[in-house]
Amino acid sequence: MTAKTFYLETFGCQMNAHDSEKVVGTLLARGYTQVETPEAAELVLYNTCSIRDKAEQKVFHRLQQFKRAGKGKVFGVLGCVAQQEGEKIFDKAPHVSLVAGSASYTKLPEMLVQLEAGARRVTGLSLDTEETFDTPFTRRDNPHRAYITIIEGCDKSCAYCVVPFTRGPERSRTSASVLAESRQLAELGYTEIQLLGQNVNSYRDPSPAGWDFATLLTRVGEIQGIRRVRFTTSHPRDFGKSIVDAIDENPRLCNHVHLPVQSGSDRMLGAMQRLYTRDQYMRRIEWLKNSPRNISITTDIIVGFPGETEADFLQTLDLLDQVQYDSLFSFKYSSRPNTAALAMGDHIPEEEKTRRLTILQERQRAIQIQRNSETIGAVQEVHVEGRNPSLGQWIGRTSQNRTLNFTCADENGESLIGKYLPVRVTRAGPNSLAGESAANML
Ligand code: SF4
Repeated sequence: MTAKTFYLETFGCQMNAHDSEKVVGTLLARGYTQVETPEAAELVLYNTCSIRDKAEQKVFHRLQQFKRAGKGKVFGVLGCVAQQEGEKIFDKAPHVSLVAGSASYTKLPEMLVQLEAGARRVTGLSLDTEETFDTPFTRRDNPHRAYITIIEGCDKSCAYCVVPFTRGPERSRTSASVLAESRQLAELGYTEIQLLGQNVNSYRDPSPAGWDFATLLTRVGEIQGIRRVRFTTSHPRDFGKSIVDAIDENPRLCNHVHLPVQSGSDRMLGAMQRLYTRDQYMRRIEWLKNSPRNISITTDIIVGFPGETEADFLQTLDLLDQVQYDSLFSFKYSSRPNTAALAMGDHIPEEEKTRRLTILQERQRAIQIQRNSETIGAVQEVHVEGRNPSLGQWIGRTSQNRTLNFTCADENGESLIGKYLPVRVTRAGPNSLAGESAANML
């Protein structure tokens, strides 16, 4: 059958969200039309995440719903679960016709041809591709902020992580192609760029220029029309001082760094194979804290990793107190296939993991209340991202990546979305700030 309408649901990280933008662009260029519900679509795609068990279960649950009701539709599983489970997906969900991991998306047009010709089992599971998934057809979801993948895959082997298995080894894009895409986006009116990769710090320009990440960051920040550059995510082992120096020198590079630590205990960092000690991590924090830019710092934490004792956990709480993160993502450990941690078992009871997670989140909440309240009275520039009509507020984001909702007395009914405005912070909660436009005060 020829499927010409499609529905795509995305799970997981920003890399997946951006991959989906490229998949959508590729499908539209082949004449497909995107629809809002799976019911209305002939081709139903799930771009999946397998970083946690829960995320993986979700996609099988979705597929299950259509086991009978999906007659006449073509189903495809993309992304990490596809790479991890491979052809086993056909056994678990026989109504699926396409299974493709992200390293094979360059072959998506050929896979679509096969599906359109009526093929029942199409796979793209090779990880040995040298190419990165650059497509001129990327359909971007946001008209002002654009994601650009600079490096795909990961060469680290953190004991809990499936990414090296699902996204393959590191492949960096040439600096020329990253700069060309950035310039093109600036010409189209994008003002904010977010550079993406599982570990952007290990970016290495494969062309003779041989730029490292700090150089690439600086050059993207120099492009005419680009007002903000962000990047995610960093690995502490590869996070060099030159990145902080680049931020110091160019205000267009946002003063926010996400530096995942995962644990405050050296014993746990060793078991997780994170390749740095707490002291080495704290050195990087010092660089960031000593910057004149007032860089906000956020992180990721895993609780309940195999072997984590109460003492290890207390060291993580102590790290929170020491660093004073502006925000964090916290997770309970869940074992994943293929990973080194699988052999360590998963002995910590679920209730204990929940207890640690709750304590951690409460501690962090108190820190955020304090950190955010320190901004009251300050004027911060926001990039306006949306409007909350019920509250009569605009939704802005600061360079430090805080949400700052604000009112504007003289907006004259015109949309402020996409604009950069100074806003005075008047109130602060644990997760966001509120304020008033300060445009007339400057
Ligand atoms: S650095 Fe570690 S956690 Fe991050 S993607 Fe690579 S293996 Fe996974």
